[in-house]
Amino acid sequence: MKCNNNQTINLPSPSYVCEETLLLNNLKLLKYVQDEADVSILLALKGFSLKSTFDLCREHLKGCCASGLNEALLAYEEFKGEVHTYSPAFKPNEFEKITEISNHIVFNSFAQLELYKNSLKNHNSIGLRINPEYSSVEIDLYNPCGIYSRLGITKCEFLKGINTYPNNLELISGFHFHALCEQNFDVLEEVFNKFEAEFSEYFSRLKWLNFGGGHHITRIDYDVEGLINFLKKIRAKYPHLKIYLEPGEAVGWKTGYLESTVLDVVHNGIDIAILDASAECHMPDTLAMPYKADIRGASSDANEKQYKYRLGGNTCLAGDIIGDYSFDKPLNVGDKIIFEDMIHYTMVKTTTFNGVNLPSIVIKKSDNSFLVVSNFGYNDFKSRI
Ligand SMILES: *Cc1c(COP(=O)(O)O)cnc(C)c1O
Repeated sequence: MKCNNNQTINLPSPSYVCEETLLLNNLKLLKYVQDEADVSILLALKGFSLKSTFDLCREHLKGCCASGLNEALLAYEEFKGEVHTYSPAFKPNEFEKITEISNHIVFNSFAQLELYKNSLKNHNSIGLRINPEYSSVEIDLYNPCGIYSRLGITKCEFLKGINTYPNNLELISGFHFHALCEQNFDVLEEVFNKFEAEFSEYFSRLKWLNFGGGHHITRIDYDVEGLINFLKKIRAKYPHLKIYLEPGEAVGWKTGYLESTVLDVVHNGIDIAILDASAECHMPDTLAMPYKADIRGASSDANEKQYKYRLGGNTCLAGDIIGDYSFDKPLNVGDKIIFEDMIHYTMVKTTTFNGVNLPSIVIKKSDNSFLVVSNFGYNDFKSRI
């Protein structure tokens, strides 16, 4: 399907539409950081696993970070770059395959390392995830260093670990921390300073450090040059250490939208539009975080424009509400509603709850043609149960 920018085109509804040009801009910026600072940037599949864009991603990024066997397989089979696998806890029946396809394996505890150390292969570079105990993320759901966090080894547990398993430190080539969420480089610097103060005595035995994700590098107000200078300083101070970053959100940030259709407008005290897109199934972070997505041409201030609607999904869940918005014109059945920035942390989290279909996945190519790469139906619903 081809069209120019201003024409509307009949895509399946609902559809996630990833715009190649926008993705390419993000990838170029990330590659710029990678080249300037002499670090390696990996795609965190948790936030963005759109495999039909991996050819483009591979030209810019070194590989993927995976959180278990399925993501590691996707990285290995579809991305084909470096595969870095960390899991809060590895499963015995999956670990052998993980060792075969992973370059880096990062353990979340000394006990897991002990459990699996005899299965490791020569090509596996082994790391430990450290909890730097520097907590700056305000939303608990996304705070890897919050109180009682299970993610990463605290300094106290680290000291116990090397005491209990004195020989295992020799197996370790790197430290990993992931402590950020949607943050600028100043927070990375604060986390690193804390981490360095606690753990730099071990750096001489290591080959790499991995600073995790949560770096909002492609957001317009991110201090990219600040990040590059900071990374260069660390590279100069510890020249034997390779540095990895593994952003997910920054790759898919503002690279496309979710297009949906008004199916009905009902009234109960207020006007309510029922859409074929669902907060619960298709845009789960709007309920989990929660936040309110922007709608193209509408105001998220329900009182700003003349026509006010509550938008709800086509499930029987009472709380499947996307939010209250206002529009310049009344909404009619068949109207398109376009939710902005719906590529990262959406299609990786969708469900077929209530039998609702998954949105199709569409790539808007740089020549403005649209390529429908995935359609879903009854078999996808049935096969998941
Ligand atoms: C979620 C996660 C990432 C990616 O985080 P973003 O916020 O999407 O950049 C990277 N590494 C680990 C270990 C993660 O859990």
